[in-house]
Amino acid sequence: MDNVPFPAPELGEPYLLTPGPLTTSFEVKQAMLKDWGSWDDDFRAMTQVMRKKLIRLLGDGAEAYDCVPIQGSGSYCVEAMLGTFVPKDGKVLVLANGAYGQRAASTMDYLGRARVVLDKGDYLPPRGADVARILADDPEITHVLAIHCETSSGILNPVEEIAEATKAAGCKLLIDSMSAFGAIPLEPAKLGCAAFVSSANKCIEGVPGFGFVIALTSELEAAKGNSHSLSLDVEAQWTTMNKTGQWRFTPPTHVVAAFLEALGQHESEGGVPARGARYIRNRDVLVDGMRELGFETLLADRWLSPIIVTFFCPADPAFEFNRFYELMKGRGFIIYPGKLTVVDSFRVGCIGRMDEHVMRRVVDAAKEALSQMGVASASPPDAALEERKKLAT
Ligand SMILES: *Cc1c(COP(=O)(O)O)cnc(C)c1O
Repeated sequence: MDNVPFPAPELGEPYLLTPGPLTTSFEVKQAMLKDWGSWDDDFRAMTQVMRKKLIRLLGDGAEAYDCVPIQGSGSYCVEAMLGTFVPKDGKVLVLANGAYGQRAASTMDYLGRARVVLDKGDYLPPRGADVARILADDPEITHVLAIHCETSSGILNPVEEIAEATKAAGCKLLIDSMSAFGAIPLEPAKLGCAAFVSSANKCIEGVPGFGFVIALTSELEAAKGNSHSLSLDVEAQWTTMNKTGQWRFTPPTHVVAAFLEALGQHESEGGVPARGARYIRNRDVLVDGMRELGFETLLADRWLSPIIVTFFCPADPAFEFNRFYELMKGRGFIIYPGKLTVVDSFRVGCIGRMDEHVMRRVVDAAKEALSQMGVASASPPDAALEERKKLAT
């Protein structure tokens, strides 16, 4: 592992410290230098291999699941999953603690299907007890949608306790594991999960262009006729793919080729445990280094994911996010503005083709940027720390 080289991206590109699109390897980019016909046997075989390899990441009970790729970005897959597995007369409890939970709720509104939202604000975790209480009070709820890692704050939501409460109430669990799958273990059979989604350009480190729904075969069979949409009908895509080996409409051929290369690299790195371990080291080096500079994380260690970390902006009036962003970019690192409503923040992603040595350079770059701006201390305003106290429970 120590010898795996993580050179600066080619052509002097900056590292993308953003949770997808992210920095990909040279081999992944190189895999796209060829054209494939969508009807051709070679491409059909590529699609089949990809589906099988994804299923192999699921651990015990994987044989009950199948994988259905869907064109578009991750949100297309969330919409496809909700529209396909929630019957027209179903009702979903959406567990929201950030932008992606809110987006799922708004997707339900577009679908014209019933939903209730547990809104925990910017970053507080939905707990198993919350879910149990809501499901006990509302017997009309048929499905629960959980966000695995809520990428807008970086919080790793407690899916195990959510799954337990969902199962105990006899409801079905759907998971948006977009930014977690491939680095954080997710064993759907153990959780009793009906379906979950992820996409090509997150922890598997491919390029953007499609996502995939992984669902119980029994759920796929039962979902015929549910979908509101021709192109987002997961059951129809699944049936066609199994019958003909083809995607129903133009597949993102180059993206699939790149993704297969990325899956190969994921496997040779050591699969989910090794990918997760690298991201954890990335996060630890980043968080330790930034804390040494005086920065504080939004989340307590218990909730910090190895995917993306939110830092409060320093209280020092010499700090200005846009300037900080440009100074970091000038040093080769693209960071991400924060999404908190109460206090100013920014985010740094830990995923993509980079290791702890790169993260050390990120911390050095932040130190130089602060000194160039004349920021004496990176410590956040009191309001930020007050806000964080809410998490203590
Ligand atoms: C990235 C992401 C999505 C999908 O976003 P797109 O911009 O449509 O790719 C959905 N949910 C979560 C938690 C994500 O991190």
